[in-house]
Amino acid sequence: MSFCSNVKAELARQPIHTCCAIAEAYGILLFCNTFTPGCIKIVTESRDLAQRLPRLFKKAFDIEFDQLPNQEQGKAIFTIDCPRKLSAIYETFGLDVQATVSLHVNLSVLEEDHCKISFVRGAFMAGGSVTDPEKRYHLEFATSHHYVGREVYSLLMELGFYPKDTTRGGNSILYFKQSDHIEDVLTTLGAPVCAMQIMEAKVEKEFRNKINRWVNCETANVGKTVNAAQEQLAAIRKLEKMDLYEQLPQKLRETAELRKAYPEASLLELAQMQDPPLTKSAINHRMRKILELSRG
Ligand SMILES: [Zn+2]
Repeated sequence: MSFCSNVKAELARQPIHTCCAIAEAYGILLFCNTFTPGCIKIVTESRDLAQRLPRLFKKAFDIEFDQLPNQEQGKAIFTIDCPRKLSAIYETFGLDVQATVSLHVNLSVLEEDHCKISFVRGAFMAGGSVTDPEKRYHLEFATSHHYVGREVYSLLMELGFYPKDTTRGGNSILYFKQSDHIEDVLTTLGAPVCAMQIMEAKVEKEFRNKINRWVNCETANVGKTVNAAQEQLAAIRKLEKMDLYEQLPQKLRETAELRKAYPEASLLELAQMQDPPLTKSAINHRMRKILELSRG
């Protein structure tokens, strides 16, 4: 199951209260596939929403769907085309089934905060999606009703959420990109378990980034050690070519021999290999001397 279907499953487990049932059904209708005076059509891939819809519509409008989905189908399709049922639904929202005006959100059916939240939950279940937080942070609501998009924008602001808005393929889209905003939206709508998973994914991602930064930094240090060793080896070879190597003071030659034997060792490691061991500054001093002599 995708993260999005887990979220919808968690939301669909919320109890259905009578006043909120109307609000949630309203959100579903305004964000579903078809909501016109002639037909209602809700298509969903969420099995959990499919199980909730008949109970929800029964409680909200005391009606049944005219067509229920076939159990075997991938997507569940619910339709209502009976004129009596359609006008009952329109009347519940103070709409005239005969009027041809654009759909609006009738805020008088969403007076209480719990009803507003239920409306948004319905909108999300029918027309929303959320991306797996392992990939990126994105939650959106999509509706084909232009005014509804703007009105739900204000409604979300009233609830303390500040979405961004855009249009895509003629649909009005409200979306969130910040993980903490998405967590808050999901917690408010009734999916705190999934919200927690977003938080966990974020912590894990930050931890991985920290490890990567540390590894990169270590690699850079190793690179520096290797570059320095290359330079020292080149100096030693140059001294050998100039027949100066044999004339090096005993101590410098010992250090040069160790460097040739252990080309990848750090200076500190070389210092510890000396007999007796040297301090880092002492071996540094000897190496500098070797480099200096090689420059002539
Ligand atoms: Zn309510």
